[in-house]
Amino acid sequence: MAYKFGAHLSISGGYHKALERIKDIGGSCLQIFSGSPRGWSFPKINPKDCQLFIEKKNNFQINPVYFHASYLVNLVDNGRIGIMSKKSLINELEVASQLGIVGSIIHLGSFKDNRPTLWDVSKDKRYSILITNILEILTNTPKGVYFIIENAGNRKIGQTLEEISMIIKDINDERVRLCLDTCHLYSAGYSFRNNTELNLLLDKLEKLDLLDKLELWHVNDSRDHFNSGHDRHENIGEGTIGLAEFKTLLNHPKMKNYPFIIETPGFNNEGPDKKNLDILKTLING
Ligand SMILES: [Zn+2]
Repeated sequence: MAYKFGAHLSISGGYHKALERIKDIGGSCLQIFSGSPRGWSFPKINPKDCQLFIEKKNNFQINPVYFHASYLVNLVDNGRIGIMSKKSLINELEVASQLGIVGSIIHLGSFKDNRPTLWDVSKDKRYSILITNILEILTNTPKGVYFIIENAGNRKIGQTLEEISMIIKDINDERVRLCLDTCHLYSAGYSFRNNTELNLLLDKLEKLDLLDKLELWHVNDSRDHFNSGHDRHENIGEGTIGLAEFKTLLNHPKMKNYPFIIETPGFNNEGPDKKNLDILKTLING
């Protein structure tokens, strides 16, 4: 099976333009926003644009395609932000279904005050708000699309794999999947420079029932130090993670069939680019 490398790219000019952009830089899978990531948007898609997107996606063989949810989403909020988060995700997953997009990759949110190191789920009502909000989104969206939780590198929800596992178990729905970001893992204290270390991580994922939930990888280098709680992305090979980790990941027999999507700043600071993808491709063992 051929490798699936992709990138998060701009939808400027229409969703179908992102398909042309990924083809141009040599990728075969894609991540896009459904609207402005720094605001609330509720895009609707007309049948003509929908058909255009699906035709191009098939012609260029770009698969899978994912949405990345708005940065404003916060599902532990039970006020206006929580309501807008639910509405925008319900709208986005509906659009995903129309376009043949797998689902949305979502940061669950953050605490307004200092985060608890371990949630006492019986006492902290924010935990039940989170679970209720996610269940409401799943109930009100098409059955075929995924709600994909991305691990966090900073003090947001989903920093530890244990926390993500607890949330996924409590929601107990096949449509909830996992996206692992190498940069966020690194800043949260997880790294792997060889197969022994990666196997330990995979064992941990297995024990937490997360391995069969894994949907894709975000492949980003980091500007910050290991276990720093900061998670600024860097170009592949230019950051603190180092090429050995990416080489280990891409060549592991259990990992090589997953989609690998970059969200790097780009060598010209214009976003994920061909050069980053080309570097990843050189790391594959012949
Ligand atoms: Zn990411």
